[in-house]
Amino acid sequence: MSDCNVPPTPDNFELFYIYAAGQNAALTKAMGEIVSVRGGFTPIVLDDLRGRCLLRERHARAMEDVGSGITEMLDEVLHKLESAGKDAGEYGRALSAASGELGGDHSPQAMRRLVDRLIGETRSMEKRTKALETELQQSSQQVNELKTQLEDVRKESRLDPLTGIANRKAFDTELSAAIADAKESGTPVSLLMCDIDHFKRFNDTWGHQTGDQVLRLVANCLSENVKGRDTAARYGGEEFAVILRQTTLRDAVGLADQIRKTVQAKKLVKKSTGDILGKITVSIGAAQFAAGDGGELLVKRADMCLYHAKNAGRNRVVGENELSAPANIDAA
Ligand code: GH3
Ligand code: MG
Ligand code: MG
Repeated sequence: MSDCNVPPTPDNFELFYIYAAGQNAALTKAMGEIVSVRGGFTPIVLDDLRGRCLLRERHARAMEDVGSGITEMLDEVLHKLESAGKDAGEYGRALSAASGELGGDHSPQAMRRLVDRLIGETRSMEKRTKALETELQQSSQQVNELKTQLEDVRKESRLDPLTGIANRKAFDTELSAAIADAKESGTPVSLLMCDIDHFKRFNDTWGHQTGDQVLRLVANCLSENVKGRDTAARYGGEEFAVILRQTTLRDAVGLADQIRKTVQAKKLVKKSTGDILGKITVSIGAAQFAAGDGGELLVKRADMCLYHAKNAGRNRVVGENELSAPANIDAA
């Protein structure tokens, strides 16, 4: 690690340990190439390796665990049901044999024996049914546990590990859903694209880990300002997106400004040293879904507004109504 100038943090140790132990083929290949030239482990490359190789593998393993749990559970339940079917079949046969015998002429003793046999068969069937009931109850508890685990894995796969808000994949799904709803119900839906100002400079001055803290802080500011039906997501790197359901452009711009002010008001202090890090600001572009838009086009339009906000001096919000000409996507 020191040969490659990689800081000795727990996260980096984990990465290099797994690499050295050869435990993860994808990581071995990706890191091997960088190690061979003894360099290039920038914080972003390290983060990317973690995201691509470790988190994906961890997630795949968790999915596999739940998947094999479900398969085992189903096998067990099927087996129980099969044997319950066999029991019921045997009991049915005993009953029809007895009903055949009832047709003949019987002495009271023979009748007594027949009735005793039927009572015996019925009791044993009752016992097996009770046992099956208990077993199925246990199975249903296990199924519920598996359901919870599956839900956890699903939730995790939709979250960005660094900030804890929705990731890009969840954003894409949610945007399509919001647009489909807007088309069906005729209600507005708006989108904010938000980018941290001069973040490269911040990272260069204070280090990537402090930069990561800022990403968490901005994510918190977004979450603080949106309602349950809205989605705040990390779109990528230091860019965030907010889907605002049932919100017009005008309201979206108002909310964006509230977010901008919330971020600006935070005082940044480096936890380890108490250094005052100054202020962080964000620029935000806002666009509203229009008939004929798809998700991609809406993102492009909000992005163009963001670009204008940057050009106009940063730390500001630009709504698409403020652009002098309609956003020309081809020129973007
Ligand atoms: P602008 O105001 O024009 O947006 O300037 P900027 O410096 O923010 O933009 P630029 O696109 O030049 O740089 C983005 C920086 O974001 C580069 C990189 O250091 C930082 N960055 C991207 N992803 C991460 C991350 O996961 N963690 C940290 N700490 N920094 C990141
Ligand atoms: Mg950017
Ligand atoms: Mg930026």
